Amino acid sequence: MLAYLRTTALFSLLIASPLAAQDTAWKVGLAEANITPEMPVVMSGYGGRTKPFEKVAAELFVKVMVLEDASGQRGVIVTSDLLGFPAEVAEPICERIGKKTGLKREQILLNSSHTHAGPAISLRSVSKDLPGEAQRTIEYTRQLQEKVVETVVQATTRMKPATLSHGSGVIHFAMNRREFTTDRIILGVNPRGLADRSVPILRVAGADGSMIAVLFGAATHGTTLGADNYQICGDYAGFAQSYLREKFAKAQAMFMLGCAGDSNPYPRGTMDMAKTHGKTLGVEVERVLQAKLRRIAGPLKIAYSKTGLPLQTLPRETIERFAKDKRHPQNYAAGQMLAVLEKGSKLPTHYACPLTVWQFGKDLTLVGLSGEVVVDYVPFLEKALGSNHLWIAGYCNDVFGYLPSARVLSEGGYETRGLYSGGVGVFDPRAERVVIENVRDLAKRAERMLPD
Ligand SMILES: [Zn+2]
Repeated sequence: MLAYLRTTALFSLLIASPLAAQDTAWKVGLAEANITPEMPVVMSGYGGRTKPFEKVAAELFVKVMVLEDASGQRGVIVTSDLLGFPAEVAEPICERIGKKTGLKREQILLNSSHTHAGPAISLRSVSKDLPGEAQRTIEYTRQLQEKVVETVVQATTRMKPATLSHGSGVIHFAMNRREFTTDRIILGVNPRGLADRSVPILRVAGADGSMIAVLFGAATHGTTLGADNYQICGDYAGFAQSYLREKFAKAQAMFMLGCAGDSNPYPRGTMDMAKTHGKTLGVEVERVLQAKLRRIAGPLKIAYSKTGLPLQTLPRETIERFAKDKRHPQNYAAGQMLAVLEKGSKLPTHYACPLTVWQFGKDLTLVGLSGEVVVDYVPFLEKALGSNHLWIAGYCNDVFGYLPSARVLSEGGYETRGLYSGGVGVFDPRAERVVIENVRDLAKRAERMLPD
């Protein structure tokens, strides 16, 4: 049991700078690139869409912020109007960035808004029925990788003195989506369920005090638009960024998604609703920016690990049963597991999940979790790390599938569906404890003050 729970720290590192916490001499480098697909590619996020996108309602961007503390220690945040970066796409990006800039893997955090109105991302064939589109998806993904690398390189050449400050707002359109019906949990509306409605904000000002960038978060799926939508856009997060870009023309507005795994925007279904939610979020960020923000000092300390999260061991009969039952949430994962067994291979026992903690002096802790993280991890990490000055992001570095809690796994529903990109299997309920313990360990190594 203990051996099973033990974390496999495949890779772990701490970057520390020796300067005093009161030192505020930050430098920041910014860059962005348009990543709107120019070729007719299929869209991501919903099964059953049978043709490529029809038009572009709003352009998509990848945006980069390079932070450097007084000792020269750097960290790079990349945000994107995309469904997510799986490891097979993210890791080559980070390797190429490393070759060009000397940055290490743990210094790079890739986040995605999880828009379901963006292009599919894959280096493998996405659909047997659409070979032309599948090829274009691979081509788009390769170009995207190159653009991310080039944009990071560009940002590193633009380092300028900056000050950082932090604040927090709230939105009310994030809705828990796990609706309990008489026989099962459906993707619906659960107004009494938990959702993280906080809007964390990082304001970056240049030497003259004017804002040059704002990084802000929210924690609900990029699914205001449904499967019937064939228009490219960044959903509410994209519209929030364009609202802020209009209001603050000189500032780069960047969106970072939180623990949105079991949350949908409410209401949802139309482009107008996506625009309304985007404006609501943008207006709230604008309001907080006008209030008094808390200044953030250095140094920047980053702790990163790739942690083996335990997967369930299921009997072959169970896997076969799930693989036959199209309505079962683990139908896809079971099919993948069966394919592994049929090749005579063994099923993996763990999935290596990147986790990261960025500590900004004594003033802010940014936790970067991977996967589609359900909201339960917010109160879990508040308890483990203390709730003050805590920013919890999901959908970072490797969007492999959902990261459910033990509660969600025991209740069932869509978020228990298992790994869908780059891995095979379904998380064991004990994965929850491994995540919490590892994040606490990373926070300790990054020198956050922790509760007992
Ligand atoms: Zn999702």
